[in-house]
Amino acid sequence: MKKLLALFFALFVFSNFQAIAQEKSKDIKMKDLINSERLTNNFLRYVKIDTGSDPVKAETQIPSTERQKELAKVLAEELKALGLKNVNINKHCIVTADFPSSDKNMPVIALFAHLDTSSDVATGPVKPQIHDYKGGDIKLSENVVIPAEDLKNEVGHHVITSDGTTLLGSDDKSGVAEIMETISVLVENPDIKRPNIKVVFTPDEETGLGSTAFDVEHFDADFAYTVDGGAPHELDTETFNAYNPEITIIGKVVHCGYAYKKMINSLELANEFMSQLPKNETPATTKDRQGYYYIDEVTGSGEKTVIKMLVRDFDLENAKKRIAFLEKTLKDIEKKHNGAVIKFEPKMRYLNMKEKLNEFPEVISYAEEGIKRSGLKPVQNSVRGGTDGSAFTLRGLLTPNLGAGGENFHSQREFVSVETMAKCTENVLNILSVWAERADEVMPKIQKNGRRSR
Ligand SMILES: [Zn+2]
Repeated sequence: MKKLLALFFALFVFSNFQAIAQEKSKDIKMKDLINSERLTNNFLRYVKIDTGSDPVKAETQIPSTERQKELAKVLAEELKALGLKNVNINKHCIVTADFPSSDKNMPVIALFAHLDTSSDVATGPVKPQIHDYKGGDIKLSENVVIPAEDLKNEVGHHVITSDGTTLLGSDDKSGVAEIMETISVLVENPDIKRPNIKVVFTPDEETGLGSTAFDVEHFDADFAYTVDGGAPHELDTETFNAYNPEITIIGKVVHCGYAYKKMINSLELANEFMSQLPKNETPATTKDRQGYYYIDEVTGSGEKTVIKMLVRDFDLENAKKRIAFLEKTLKDIEKKHNGAVIKFEPKMRYLNMKEKLNEFPEVISYAEEGIKRSGLKPVQNSVRGGTDGSAFTLRGLLTPNLGAGGENFHSQREFVSVETMAKCTENVLNILSVWAERADEVMPKIQKNGRRSR
């Protein structure tokens, strides 16, 4: 009897112990597993590599600049050192790596960030500075001041900026560093249940053309997230529909002294066209979900003028109407000036991803659940721009955009804090966990309706 009691007691203790162990694994706080020092050091190393892209060269070659390859090589080496499989850099400077899960029947989730930085301002050499931020403006130089208003969520944080002569490159090296930290945490903690993961670092996001070099159709992932957004609680699920029209106006040049009723000055025609664009539909006069026309560049002479424009709208029908309006206006001008030749190329760049994302709502709801687990209230955001994810989504790989934490992109006032980068990493880890936990319910749906069913 005594023996039996002892056995019962042992069983009781054992089952309790098991319950506690299970409770523990569920209770793992991703936050405690993140190594902020490693995250920061990686970020600082990456921003010091100047990876500015070139929108003109990107029209004919990806990567548009050789220097992007330098960061690609560094990252490929680090991914190899972490033990990832199939680490590769292809001819377009796209870095890919596989991190398979030991669990069978798991979805494949890809994490994307971009290597390049915007050439809107000087891209390097970046001299990063860390500020133990207590409040107030951060003055980087006489002309470069980050106002306290922009920093209101960073009090008590370690804010990283450039020295004010260049951008910081947080867009998107914070995304790169957060993905690397995510992988490091998962390598160090093999007990965490997770999906199969693919890591992809792409060139030329800022030129809008890098995504064209990525072979989405042969990429074997179910869903993806770009880590290239702003605040950690934001989830970008909607982007503009974007056209970058190019207009070429050919006039007729004759000697000014003999030009009566003969000359057609292409610059005047350009002016006639631009004056017909609605004044209240420019980037400076629209916000939220309103679309716009933007004159980006005008170059020319009497003989030939080229106008480069951006046309943006969240609604595709409206975007098409805008393109039709431009075409009609130009046709009328051409007709009116007999002898002028006007060429119009709409140049579609990317489409709003919202509708397509709704085809598999888990890609959003799981991300929201992950963000909630980090203690944040998720907010779906309409980006007044585009992401690589908008292009991928349209080509069948649903790819919303997660916050990477940086602010004041494409300027010398760009900044990101260590704490915010850690929070964004926590989000990514939590989102991956949600996919793993729901694998049993979501896998049949993926096999039936997802990319794998093709
Ligand atoms: Zn970016």
